[in-house]
Amino acid sequence: MTDIPRLTPGSGLTDYPPPDRWDDWEEYDARAWPEKVKHEYRLVPTTCFNCESACGLLAYVDKESGEIRKFEGNPAHPGSRGRNCAKGPATINQVYDPERILYPMKRVGERGSGQWERVTWEAALTDIGSRMGTAIREGRNNEIMYHVGRPGEDGFMDRTLKAWGVDGHNSHTNICSSGARTGYAMWMGHDRPSADFANARFILLLSSHLETGHYFNPHAQRIIEAKRAGAKLATVDPRLSNTASMSDYWLSPWPGTEPALLLAIARQLLEWDAVDHGFMRSWVNWEESLRLRYPDRPVTYESWIEAMKDEYKNYTVEFAAEETGVDAHRIMAVATGIADAGSRFASHTWRGANSGNLGGWQTARCLW
Ligand code: SF4
Repeated sequence: MTDIPRLTPGSGLTDYPPPDRWDDWEEYDARAWPEKVKHEYRLVPTTCFNCESACGLLAYVDKESGEIRKFEGNPAHPGSRGRNCAKGPATINQVYDPERILYPMKRVGERGSGQWERVTWEAALTDIGSRMGTAIREGRNNEIMYHVGRPGEDGFMDRTLKAWGVDGHNSHTNICSSGARTGYAMWMGHDRPSADFANARFILLLSSHLETGHYFNPHAQRIIEAKRAGAKLATVDPRLSNTASMSDYWLSPWPGTEPALLLAIARQLLEWDAVDHGFMRSWVNWEESLRLRYPDRPVTYESWIEAMKDEYKNYTVEFAAEETGVDAHRIMAVATGIADAGSRFASHTWRGANSGNLGGWQTARCLW
């Protein structure tokens, strides 16, 4: 049973309806005040999908009408823990949007004329499927285009499209997180990492901010927890965002120069030997890297570390300061904070720095 937070310690008032009463929940209608109009609800756990955080929601289903009256946070959800951004409760607008498409519609007039007729699912799937099948059989695979607003099926659709020999996959991600995902995926094998922010001592954010909601909401809660426990927060953003204004360090580089900051920090960490060698030995392809890039050097971990020092030697803090416009002392302070945090360093980069500049994906690569 979820332990629901109390409004004040020891009080009977809870922030959320206790789960053992979700089947029989009563509330008075605030809009009927001063009359006391009671509503009986069944609270049904569901998920918000207005972004990939997939926070938990509770649908308040009116027992009398069977209609959803509102959505609130689900305190039993392990990620969001009852907290949502404004888009979560606003899901009610989607449910009852008068323009919501509830069944397949087929165009019957000229394109653009706005004339549609309702068809069955079977008719729609047969029509669309047979056209796609014909295109694939005739070798016109690239006449098929798949567009999805928010890809949340964790790669299933990509595998399906590949199996069909179709290359046309598009989503809003192409102008949002794809740059960061590319850097992450190529350098760490996973395109959407989730660091242990709650237990961090030092947190570095690059264009990935608490106030912008998105899938960052569950992260934001944990970053605030870490901050309350004494963690330092550094934000890299050309603009003084809300998160930057609340951070211990704000680094405002020229847009597109973020990788220089990260390379300089990495160089410092190597110089100070503030490196988790156990992790590097186990999880980095250092042998492969040595053989390909330094075939004349012995294939030992120590030799690879020396090679890395050579590779990074030009990325001094002074170089980064010149390149980015950020004060060298500030870069050094952040590097020191990261070194002192050891394995309790957490970071994230998303959107802006990675998607707003040519080659921006290198930011995620350099961070990793
Ligand atoms: S962060 Fe907001 S939009 Fe995203 S899933 Fe959570 S409540 Fe929904």
